[in-house]
Amino acid sequence: MRRQLIAGNWKMNLDRTQAVDLARKITQDSTGLPAEIDLLVCPPHVYLDAVGAELAGKRCSLGAQDAYFEPAGAFTGETSVGMLNDLGCRYVILGHSERRHLIGENDELINKKVRAALAAGLTPILCVGETLTEREADQTMEVVKSQFAGSLAGLDAEQLKGVVMAYEPVWAIGTGKTATPEQAQAVHADLRKLMASVYNQSLADGMLILYGGSVKPDNAADLLSQADIDGALIGGASLDASGFLAIAKSVPVSVGS
Ligand code: PEP
Repeated sequence: MRRQLIAGNWKMNLDRTQAVDLARKITQDSTGLPAEIDLLVCPPHVYLDAVGAELAGKRCSLGAQDAYFEPAGAFTGETSVGMLNDLGCRYVILGHSERRHLIGENDELINKKVRAALAAGLTPILCVGETLTEREADQTMEVVKSQFAGSLAGLDAEQLKGVVMAYEPVWAIGTGKTATPEQAQAVHADLRKLMASVYNQSLADGMLILYGGSVKPDNAADLLSQADIDGALIGGASLDASGFLAIAKSVPVSVGS
């Protein structure tokens, strides 16, 4: 059975005190969650150190929202994967649609970041997903396939095992619109088939594919009960400890086997 990952993307929110408080509440209130569920929070870079100190020895992992691929040097404002390791990060979100569409990141750059993260022993959470225009033009899988191929270009099966995928339809992020469980499941199943055809079936069967896009406590159970949905990447609702944990508690732990 695949494990389930419930990940919070705090984006550019909270101050230092709020970030540490949120981490504390999440760990305090997460006792009793089934062992198959992994928790992760991804605070802004500037609070990674403080939040990491709060999470030390607890069941919630620390992740970052982005990283640069170069190890060091004249890259003003960037953060290397080595620096994230130094702060105790285990995961890094890469290729988030806000970085693809607002900052202009392309698959070639994301591929370099994925490789750097893997080489540093971090688990990249690679985001893929279509815009509303692309969905309406029936191009969802074409877009997802192209982002998958471009962002993971040149990776062998052993390397792919170290990646977590996240399907995040752009039209559902921060909009309150969620893909229906059936819409999300269809893309997740196709993505798993794609992994099987490009790599192999047993690798595809073991890969975690998270869903992201306005996941809330009231829609989580239906989404997370889908056979190919292995957890959630949560923006807005992860800023509230009780909402975040309510989503985690709605994981049916027998799915995904
Ligand atoms: C996200 O940022 O990855 C996300 C899914 O945001 P939200 O849950 O707010 O739609």
